[in-house]
Formats: sequence, structure tokens, C-alpha cells
Amino acid sequence: MIIDGREIAKKIKERVKNCCANCTRKPSVVAIMLGEDPSAEAYLRMLERTCKSVDFDYTLKRYETSLTEAELLKIIQENNEDPLIDGIIVQMPLPGHISEERVIMAIDPKKDLDGFHPLNAGRLFKGEKATRPCTPLAVMTIFDELEIDLNGKDIVVIGRSNIVGKPLAVMLMHKNATVTLCHSHTVDLASHTKKADIIIVAVGIANFLTSEMVSEKSIVIDVGMNELDGKLVGDVDFEGIKDQVQMITPVPGGVGPVTNAVLLLNLLENFGGICQ
Ligand code: NAP
Repeated sequence: MIIDGREIAKKIKERVKNCCANCTRKPSVVAIMLGEDPSAEAYLRMLERTCKSVDFDYTLKRYETSLTEAELLKIIQENNEDPLIDGIIVQMPLPGHISEERVIMAIDPKKDLDGFHPLNAGRLFKGEKATRPCTPLAVMTIFDELEIDLNGKDIVVIGRSNIVGKPLAVMLMHKNATVTLCHSHTVDLASHTKKADIIIVAVGIANFLTSEMVSEKSIVIDVGMNELDGKLVGDVDFEGIKDQVQMITPVPGGVGPVTNAVLLLNLLENFGGICQ
């Protein structure tokens, strides 16, 4: 079975839209961007489309790369204090003279949309209510939507970054899965992946997971986004694997669209809405 991320994203957006049908005002997000960067701009256009598709407010605030760190922190503070703003995104990477860490720390954790603020990361680690990073949340949402029970499942996550692998491993553990977190120092990776019920790949290398590394029972979730011969591809040899496993996400059309959609869930939660 090929998992249709676009269909899952569509369902989430419909639910989010219905949730806010009777709200007194719209949830609102502010994106802050310094200078110009084609991939960042493409991401922000997509964010704008996602917000507009559910009738949420989206504002882009653009500044020159010469903006100082103090000026940026003041802008963030003003947005923190604005009661009509529910989510703040500062587009990374930032120019070298600005500390990304100080910028992340400056965003009110209640207006954090990416779950990068250390307070949210700490709460997530402890299993408390927290804004969760969108990509791991998207993977968890796929399991929820497909009613895949994670209890006692043997799950291998490949990649241990702070934005994907690490928080995802914690989220899976809180669902009582047995999690193996693999990385570039893992010895004999295939011995782990072959016996896993679920394999989640977030490495950043095209065709990384191959047919010798999976089994018939595998559910394969491909988080990767790589450019290969001018095309967007994941980390999985999709054509080589798709007929050998139980379920698989494609790229494009798998985790990516769900990641965009779950950002709306984070925004709605900051806004104070509850989406059933
Ligand atoms: P990252 O920070 O570069 O981390 C990559 C991870 O892969 C690291 O933990 C690294 O191990 C591990 N790794 C590298 N080579 C390996 C190998 N040969 N064997 C085993 N593990 C290996 O990447 P990221 O930010 O997590 O992103 C991963 C991928 O997901 C990228 O393709 C990115 O574009 C994509 N992504 C997609 C979305 C989405 O919405 N779909 C969102 C975010 C990222 P070490 O820690 O040992 O170096």
C-alpha cells in the first residue's frame, strides 16, 4: 500500500477549517524573513497557501540582511506582545552576525510553531503538553490517520537530528514503541532495519534505504527530501522497495504535505482552539 500524504493533509485541513468556522477571529501567523533565498521563499509561499487554504491570517515581514541581532530580537518581542498573533516563524538560515539560538529562545514558547524552543523540547522529552516539531508530528499523524497501533512495535529511526530523528524517537517511545535510533556510526544498519516493524528514514541521502534492508512486514516512512537529476526524491529507493513492503510513503506526496498541514494544528493549539 502506498500511503497518500496529500489525502491525509486534505483531511487535516478540512478538520482545522471546521474547527475555526465559529471563531471570533482567525488564527494568525507572522513569518519573518531577512534578505532573499529561493528555497526559503518557496517554503514561505507554501506556508502562505496552506494558511489561506483554511482561511488563517498569514503576514510576511521582510527585512534587510543588515538588520542587527538586537533589532531582530526587538521585532520578535513586539510580535510576542501582540495578542492578535498566535504563531511566529523566523526563517532560517539567518545571516552569520545573528545567533539562531538566541532568536529561537526569544520567541515566546506559546507562539512557537516549530517546537524548536528549548522549553517545548524539554516538555516533549518529559511527555508533557508541548508544541511538537512539525515533521515528527506529521509522521505520528500518519500513524494516527492509518490507525497503526505503535504499542510494542519495533521501530527503527535512521537519523538523530534535533528537528526530526531525536524528537520523533521520543514521541514514538511515549506511544510505547521499542525504538532504535540509528545514525552514521551504527554498525550493520540492515540488521536493525530488517527486523523492524516500522522503518523511518531521515538521513538526507537519495536511495539510502534499499530492498536488502527491508522485510515483507516493513512499514517504511520516508522523511528525506533530496534533489536528484532535477527531481525531488526521498531517502528510500522507492521503486526498488514498494512491492516488497507492507506500506510505504512516496516522495513527493508522503510526509511533506502532512508536515505542512500539521503546522496548522500547532497554530490552532497556540490560538487556543481544539481540533478533534
Ligand atoms: P541532518 O540534520 O543532516 O541529519 C541527518 C542524520 O542522518 C544524522 O543523524 C546522521 O547521523 C544520519 N546519517 C547520515 N549518514 C548516515 C549513514 N550513512 N547511516 C546512518 N545514518 C546516517 O538531516 P535532517 O534535518 O534530520 O533531515 C533529514 C532528511 O529529511 C533530509 O533529506 C531533509 O531534507 C528531510 N526533511 C524533510 C522534512 C519534511 O517535511 N519531509 C522536514 C525536515 C527534513 P550523525 O548524527 O551520526 O551525523
